[in-house]
Amino acid sequence: MKVPFLDVRSAYIELKSEIDEAVSRALDSGWYIFGEEVARFERSFADYTGTRFAIGVGNGLDALRIALMAMGVSEGDEVIVPSNTYIATWLAVTQCGAHPVPVEPDANTLNIDPQRIEQAMTSKTKVILPVHLYGLPAQMGPILELARRKGVRVLEDGAQAHGARYRGELIGGHGDAVTWSFYPGKNLGAFGDAGGVTTNDAELAEQIRTIANYGSKVKYVNEVCGVNSRLDPLHAAALSVKLPHLEEWNTRRVQIAEYYQRHLQNTSVRVPVSPPDCVSSWHLFPVFSRRRDALQARLKEAGIETLIHYPIPPHLQQAYRFLGYEKGAFPIAEAMAETELSLPIGPHMTLEQAAYVCEIIAGFE
Ligand SMILES: *Cc1c(COP(=O)(O)O)cnc(C)c1O
Repeated sequence: MKVPFLDVRSAYIELKSEIDEAVSRALDSGWYIFGEEVARFERSFADYTGTRFAIGVGNGLDALRIALMAMGVSEGDEVIVPSNTYIATWLAVTQCGAHPVPVEPDANTLNIDPQRIEQAMTSKTKVILPVHLYGLPAQMGPILELARRKGVRVLEDGAQAHGARYRGELIGGHGDAVTWSFYPGKNLGAFGDAGGVTTNDAELAEQIRTIANYGSKVKYVNEVCGVNSRLDPLHAAALSVKLPHLEEWNTRRVQIAEYYQRHLQNTSVRVPVSPPDCVSSWHLFPVFSRRRDALQARLKEAGIETLIHYPIPPHLQQAYRFLGYEKGAFPIAEAMAETELSLPIGPHMTLEQAAYVCEIIAGFE
């Protein structure tokens, strides 16, 4: 049996006629920047996440960078980031000229450890930037409490968390703003690069909108040195068709995840557990094994595609050599990079495929 890691094409096949119609309507409209399709998607995504404002931008990295710029982050500022995340989280900080201050995750939730954040804060800390890694919400309660006490902002990287819930509420409006990626492989994905920001803060929303559009509210009048990062109407049209299916698709991910959790119980891998106040969007299903590379090879041999998220933590990347970190600086993040393996999961995967994956792992000595 072949089990692809994620079949992104099947969402298109499922909704082909509606998506084709929406994209062709967008093409027919003659509006290729901003316009009704973008406004419609922004409105429906804000409604879905229960936030006042959603602003479409070009991709998830830009969403992070623009949101940080809108929060006034610049040279000399420090931003608290997880030591274990996709490098985009750190890149957004350094692109603003600011300094990323890594904080280790809780070894159980794999998300930034609220207890360690306070120790890492200094008078230069401007923003705490938690990531809802793999789709599991970070511990927003303690993080928001700390941020309020210290007078700093909270920006959440929600790139993997479309539809995830913390204490019953969808990720979207807990912190000052949440950034989103609609990269094709995300739980809500476009047919190319796309991203967005949600917030309940009207001033921040306006600032983000301005920065994303050349720092301009009125054409050819530039208030700040902005960037050009806008959500394409073609992607917005497709995303509007996909959004109403997100909950159902996530439910299918939950079924796969629960199947894995049940059937991998007594095997050689460690499976993730969800804290009681969190509902994961199960963007990824990570398992942990000391013999990760051999397990990955065995699964590959059996026709099962897996990926590693992520093989090198940001502090050990060549790109961040200038920060001066040595191996051993962040042992939890490093151990995750050495042992993590993401199993296939997605809305179009079958339980038969999940059973086959479990069978191979159970037979792996
Ligand atoms: C995908 C991702 C991003 C970046 O999104 P792009 O749209 O690819 O720029 C940022 N942070 C995390 C955690 C991601 O998974």
